[in-house]
Amino acid sequence: NKTLRKAVIAGNWKMNKTPAETTALINEMKPLVANADCGVIVCVPFVDLCAALEAAKGSNISVGAQNCHWEKSGAFTGEISAFTLKEMGVEYVIIGHSERRTYFGDTDVTVNKRVRAALDAGLTVILCVGEYLEQREQGITAELVAMQTKIALGGVSKDELSRIIIAYEPVWAIGTGRTATADQANEVCASIRATVAALYGADAANALTIQYGGSMNAGNAAELLAKPDVDGGLIGGASLKAPDFAKIVEAAS
Ligand code: PGA
Repeated sequence: NKTLRKAVIAGNWKMNKTPAETTALINEMKPLVANADCGVIVCVPFVDLCAALEAAKGSNISVGAQNCHWEKSGAFTGEISAFTLKEMGVEYVIIGHSERRTYFGDTDVTVNKRVRAALDAGLTVILCVGEYLEQREQGITAELVAMQTKIALGGVSKDELSRIIIAYEPVWAIGTGRTATADQANEVCASIRATVAALYGADAANALTIQYGGSMNAGNAAELLAKPDVDGGLIGGASLKAPDFAKIVEAAS
């Protein structure tokens, strides 16, 4: 089944890099990932998007944003519309990252609105789901992640599912150096696939790319990516160093 899916490695740069640094980092990455046999995406801060699109032009690196608003335009100070991203040439957008949910008030309901808007604008969504440590310890990870997935996909058609990537990111593993074991990652990715199968059928679920994210790095990527339901990675810290990111891309190829 894994052969049905293309692996996708996405860098989540978070609030790092200026436009000039963006140009330099992408230029450094380009030759290192040129022979990748997987999707390669860099998700950069809004103000770095122009520099990233320019630097990535003609390469196999695609560019994504890290959030978008659900309205096309209007009185939403500080927000960015999915339609603006699309017009710029951006192809991907991360939605529902745990840092957005934890620090900026994103909820399952607003995540769903953002997903809908991103799809309407023609973007491909990297939808993040994942549990806090207390929730894992309570034994409710699979239920919680199923609920996050179901709410986020409300109103999303089977056709549109081809423009959804789901990233399973246990919050306790993000930026902590404490990665989920390959078996833990695979177990939850498989449970997400089962949730999607119940909603859209087995074919759609088997075609869905499900990434793992949370302290994935050049050293542990191969083991995580070898698992049957782990189809790629959403990479924070290690995506800010070109050689490390390239090694992860290589492990996915
Ligand atoms: P990390 O971040 O790789 O630094 O843990 C992953 C993420 O937040 O997407």
